[in-house]
Amino acid sequence: MSDFYLKLVNTPLGKTAAQTLGLPSPVTLKRQARVDEPFITGDVLAGSASGGKAIRELGNILSAGTARIHHASHVESLADSAGVGPKAHPIDLSAEVSLRFSALIFDATGIKNATELRAVYDFFHPSIKKLALNGRVLVIGRDPQTCKEPAQAAAQRALEGFVRSTGKELGKKGTTSNLIWMAPTAAKQLDSSVRFFLSARSAYVSGQVVRIGKTRDTATVTDITAPLAGKVALVTGASRGIGESIADTLARDGATVIALDIPTAMAQLEVVAARTKGKALACDITDPDAPKVIADYVKTHFEGLDMIIHNAGITRDKTLGNMPEHFWDMTIAVNLIAEELINDALFEQNLLRENSRIVCVSSISGIAGNFGQTNYSTSKCGVIGYVEALAPQLKDSMTVNAVAPGFIETQMTAAMPLTIREAGRRMNSLSQGGLPVDVAETIAWFCDPTSTGVNGNTVRVCGQSLIGK
Ligand code: NAD
Repeated sequence: MSDFYLKLVNTPLGKTAAQTLGLPSPVTLKRQARVDEPFITGDVLAGSASGGKAIRELGNILSAGTARIHHASHVESLADSAGVGPKAHPIDLSAEVSLRFSALIFDATGIKNATELRAVYDFFHPSIKKLALNGRVLVIGRDPQTCKEPAQAAAQRALEGFVRSTGKELGKKGTTSNLIWMAPTAAKQLDSSVRFFLSARSAYVSGQVVRIGKTRDTATVTDITAPLAGKVALVTGASRGIGESIADTLARDGATVIALDIPTAMAQLEVVAARTKGKALACDITDPDAPKVIADYVKTHFEGLDMIIHNAGITRDKTLGNMPEHFWDMTIAVNLIAEELINDALFEQNLLRENSRIVCVSSISGIAGNFGQTNYSTSKCGVIGYVEALAPQLKDSMTVNAVAPGFIETQMTAAMPLTIREAGRRMNSLSQGGLPVDVAETIAWFCDPTSTGVNGNTVRVCGQSLIGK
């Protein structure tokens, strides 16, 4: 569904009217237009607090792109910024700088206590007003759970507050702000995540914290325009909405997609399968035979799977006292039980290959709760619990992660009453709804063969919604 208000405020007259009336003026978010588009262009400013463990790797990642790299090493607290490498130009932020930065990226892993947080101010205070529209703020910190000293854990945890607040300050310019907490010596695992967070693919992901762990996996991607080439993905609920976009996006990245949906959606599912040059599988995932049907299908056609995306989901809204039992049972069955049973069948038959990806679709309703959605929120919160518990048990470089969409423009949200729909769209830092492709791009990042360090995370795709954590 199109957002008429967003279009209106991006006309000269509409923009003036919105500013005069003090109404939100969301900018049109820049999204990836071409598959071979560089992940970041323009001028990028990199910085590091003393003792940063990621700055060198950030330099390697940035140097592989086309952006001009600058480093802020003009003040003592930022002297280690030069570690970004010889391709970067030093810049004195205390002088008049006419550049507009497409991204500010800061290595805060070396910060050991609250006093050293001053480096964060020294880097961002003079540069933040020089960010271009649709800019990116990305901070790399150290996972507080790996810090022995409470003062270090406190300072690293503090970065979360910093990133969430910058996201709120910058959202009106279409800028996102995110934090990666990396495990010590996990710098080599940063690549796919840094590229994602700096790119237009993360347009609707802001205020998020992602943990990256150390892995022994050495998977590489030879063709960055087709990172999933030769791999097989199964996407549930793929005939429309977010699932359809996931199928399109994974196919764009080179995967062969098995698009699954209920038998009555077969006509539309065939369209998706034909477009993505994949296969259509009609199956109700709550059918008792569904796990076997899916496992048999995978065995017969492909021998194994590299990705399973549990996207199919339903809402059956009623306040709890008025909720019939079948509303409760159906919602839990589709949104949670089916995912567990299908995974169990795939595990039992060893159908998930090495370095495979499981992605579950949760919801911000599962994090914050929602009026009239006790069943839905319960199921979607259960999904997060499932992901967190399963992640450390996985072997062979497999990962499991979740996305938690906020307000996404689909048939589901188009059916909302106008006032609730408008509130849902505007109550986030970017003052607009997301698109199905925003969820799909986040899932594609999880699925990247080099994202093995990204495990057990739930990433909200919600434009930093005001609802929930
Ligand atoms: P949608 O209703 O447009 O699509 C859901 C798909 O799942 C449909 O094609 C449907 O036929 C399929 N499905 C439902 N029950 C099934 C079953 N038993 N077996 C097989 N397929 C089944 O919804 P959407 O907006 O695209 O949402 C996709 C996912 O994202 C859902 O899990 C939803 O809860 C979640 N989500 C959506 C939003 C949003 O704003 N749209 C927000 C948060 C979370």
